[in-house]
Amino acid sequence: MRTTRLLHSMLAKLLAGTAALLAILLISGHARPGHVRPGHDFRPDVARPNRPNVVLIFMDDLGYGDLSCYGALGYRTPNLDRLAAEGTRFTNFLVAQPVCSASRAALLTGCYPNRLGISGALNPTALVGLHPEEETIAELLKEQGYRTGIFGKWHLGHRQPFLPLQQGFDEYLGIPYSNDMWPQHPNQANLKFPPLPLIEGNQPVKTLASLTDQDSLTTALTERAVSFVRRNRRNPFFLYLPFPMPHVPLAVSGKHRNSSGAGLYADVITEVDWAVGQILASLKQTGVEKNTLVIFTSDNGPWLAYGEHAGSSGGLREGKQTTFEGGNRVPCIVRWPGEVPAGQVSNQLLSTLDVLPTVARLCGARLPRRPIDGIDVQAAWRGTATESPRQTFLYYFRENNLEAVRKGDWKLVLAHPGVSYEAGKPGRDGKPGQTPGNHAFEGALYDLRHDPGERYDRQAMHPDVVSDLQQLAEQARADLGDNLQQRPGSNRRAPGTVAKAD
Ligand code: MG
Repeated sequence: MRTTRLLHSMLAKLLAGTAALLAILLISGHARPGHVRPGHDFRPDVARPNRPNVVLIFMDDLGYGDLSCYGALGYRTPNLDRLAAEGTRFTNFLVAQPVCSASRAALLTGCYPNRLGISGALNPTALVGLHPEEETIAELLKEQGYRTGIFGKWHLGHRQPFLPLQQGFDEYLGIPYSNDMWPQHPNQANLKFPPLPLIEGNQPVKTLASLTDQDSLTTALTERAVSFVRRNRRNPFFLYLPFPMPHVPLAVSGKHRNSSGAGLYADVITEVDWAVGQILASLKQTGVEKNTLVIFTSDNGPWLAYGEHAGSSGGLREGKQTTFEGGNRVPCIVRWPGEVPAGQVSNQLLSTLDVLPTVARLCGARLPRRPIDGIDVQAAWRGTATESPRQTFLYYFRENNLEAVRKGDWKLVLAHPGVSYEAGKPGRDGKPGQTPGNHAFEGALYDLRHDPGERYDRQAMHPDVVSDLQQLAEQARADLGDNLQQRPGSNRRAPGTVAKAD
């Protein structure tokens, strides 16, 4: 016994010594000044061959009904349909809040955005952003030796301390906020937006001065993403692609204009589908397809105020900026060959909140040090869970209004003022229509399995369900607060702030 232990200990020391020597060789080989070219000969410092690459594609204002695999009519999205056929398509997937900045904060941090003090869509005068101490997926994966790139729309604070390079990304090309926050906005007389910059790293490199400048954006971001995949084929990478489209103003390149035969919005979706096809092809060409987890989703439902320039909620009630399903529920496709079942459809309740903890787990990364709201839903992705690991969801909106709560198929809508497209008139030709911003929605209980359109109030029939969901709402108010009831909440954190415009 003793001899065996001694041998083990000697062997362990020998192995440790060899590992240390190898580590020194590796480090010294890459530590020479000027030797490491970012993205070229980078090597992770931890050898874990099974860690997947992660490609996260996040559309802007793409509705639940905008892909042919989700029932879109009149045009086709063959590349996304193929992605769905090779992976699992989720039909009960919710964004944390149905508007740009709040939705993005949740995706990248796994937290309800109101926990982090992020709400709405930050505009060019904002002095706030995602707090630098909040930890993003990019930071957690970078720590594990991943190269990280973002090509597209950031919208978590455009001041320098809040930009992607300060939140775990190695590379950034894109716009800092929405593509309609520019002098050509239909309401520019009131809004007075400054010129829209294209940013590379931390520096503006160009002004997107006209719609023609925006027309080439989807292609430019796609080319950069493909180049990122090629440059990082030998090391683990996290590619985040928050495309600015199909948010208004709709922009499309010459090669896709009039290509769908179903109007400008469909042309834009056709180009987005082409872009996804390019990314998928690059994964295949570089031989990393099998070891790459691809997640495709959207930041919120369609902006119905824009009429024929908006997408489709697929029959769900209302759209962007509302907490009815048309605002929160979006397409979500997950593909990871051999790990996530191919050609499956899952109706389990999931959220963008769960992307961070699930990806972190799959990639061997830790969780953020501060509390988060997402949960590891790997079993739902892998199709091994008989019921979703996520059973509840809080529909917060505006600065901190608790507008609805969900448990399983039941959704209790709480009385609240909100945007209503149904009570307004849609616009046309790229101009918004008249949309009441403070429509008085009354409380109601919906059974989403039987009534996904949220039309039939079941409160009178199910008082027990109502009181159960009211308890859930009470717990939420104690934790996160609720401005509708003047409740501050005890666990909210502050956003990052800068003293003045730089
Ligand atoms: Mg959006």
